[in-house]
Amino acid sequence: MSEHTLTVAGVTVDTRHWIGGEHVASAGTFVDVSPIDGSVLGEIARGTAAEASAAVAAARAAFPGWAATPRAERARILHAVADAVEKRIEDLSIVETHDNGALLRSHRRGVMPRVAHNFRFFADRLVGLGHDDFDTRGHTNHVSWDPAGPCVLITPWNAPLMLATWKIAPALAAGNTVILKPAEWSPLTASLFADIAAEAGLPAGVLNVVQGYGAEAGNALVSHPDVRRISFTGSVPTAKTIAAAAAANLVPASFELGGKSPLLVFADADLDLAVDLAVEQYDNAGQVCLAATRILVEETIAQEFTRRFTEKASALRQGDPRDETTDIGPNIHTRQLEKIDGFVQRALAAGARAVIGGRRGEGQYYAPTLLTDVAQDSEIVQEEVFGPVLTLQTFTDEDEAVRLANDTRFGLAATVATGDRGRAARVTDRLVAGTVWVNCFFVRDLQAPFGGSRHSGVGREGGTWSFDFYCDLKNTVTAPKGWRDH
Ligand code: NAD
Repeated sequence: MSEHTLTVAGVTVDTRHWIGGEHVASAGTFVDVSPIDGSVLGEIARGTAAEASAAVAAARAAFPGWAATPRAERARILHAVADAVEKRIEDLSIVETHDNGALLRSHRRGVMPRVAHNFRFFADRLVGLGHDDFDTRGHTNHVSWDPAGPCVLITPWNAPLMLATWKIAPALAAGNTVILKPAEWSPLTASLFADIAAEAGLPAGVLNVVQGYGAEAGNALVSHPDVRRISFTGSVPTAKTIAAAAAANLVPASFELGGKSPLLVFADADLDLAVDLAVEQYDNAGQVCLAATRILVEETIAQEFTRRFTEKASALRQGDPRDETTDIGPNIHTRQLEKIDGFVQRALAAGARAVIGGRRGEGQYYAPTLLTDVAQDSEIVQEEVFGPVLTLQTFTDEDEAVRLANDTRFGLAATVATGDRGRAARVTDRLVAGTVWVNCFFVRDLQAPFGGSRHSGVGREGGTWSFDFYCDLKNTVTAPKGWRDH
């Protein structure tokens, strides 16, 4: 192990920045800790404005060559990146689990295959993009999807490589170059991925990774005048800071933010299915932006729902995320645990009742919690906790269910459990959310638009919407006359 690498369960990761096809060190470092047991994984390069500038310069230098690379060739390289990711699924999974504490089996079977799919999907989509020509009185209108230039991508820790590549893949497919700033609590898979992508043939400078803190490296990147797009996934307060920086340079920015999504359970629902959907919200220790953390149940079935939910949730196994039988792993950081517990203790002090949980567990674990007797205008109902904490409220009719569901400042997702198709249509029509699931949860297709309304986000990505964002659309109008044809 050199001064600039660390090893996680036999997998070596270079902890420097990746700029212009080279590993670049910083004068400073920060410590990366595993949420599994609090052990120090290693020291990571702590980026400053200097490395941010160097990365933007590298992305600028690489842009003309990558933008001019024929679509079919760009697509071929992105498929090669996907192939390389597929060969390293085990390594990427091990490293991610040690770094952010999410379940190893989820990384192996769901998340990392999805990382590869991100590249395949946008590579294929690129090839078929843009057949929008039309005619105006004999003049042809040709619409082209021009790449915008260097894009800054800022990502959170709850699904690090998945969320990073969901931005990297369309940005690169469109012909842009990128600078990724991963979250400081989960920096490792970004660095490992940069090496994997380079080995797969991604040219130098097309993908750059700057490690470090948001206020330092992140802020320098989003404020840089040579950046042409900013795509951010994270919290609302950070989004507001980035929006101000983007506005100062008139740079289009996309924001995928937090949520306080509802699960509406009607009395006509398949109750076992509804209970399963509710218990699923503890996945990733509740650190899922889309999680339906507010369970709204029709009053007539609330007692039976709570009984079955308690039985099922109490059987969840909390423990080491490397263990195949574990259902819930640790939370990311002691600071996050304190934040979660603060929300819960304030709710309990305000009169809430913990049906299950309501306290910290051993080490970096929080007991799966369900709180009832919560007021609609209370902090626990209105604010995102980002931990395994759900609230339960009741409603008496459809109108009240919709009113409660829509009554927060967020609008990321909503889930409806009902056996009545007419009701499903009526209710989904009235919900304010970027994604609505009916009798299911977390079914996500890359063809679909993804994003949030209100404080859950600005803009949509996914499918063609990603290309809308990452491209400068240009319409070229050509007259039928004026040619010097021989
Ligand atoms: P965060 O806002 O604290 O940090 C996100 C990223 O922003 C990190 O990389 C951080 O270093 C960087 N950052 C912080 N300050 C910055 C600044 N001034 N300039 C530039 N970059 C800066 O969020 P988090 O705690 O890492 O993530 C959790 C949040 O992300 C939750 O609110 C969650 O709901 C949300 N999230 C949303 C989605 C979605 O798709 N809508 C997906 C996952 C997570």
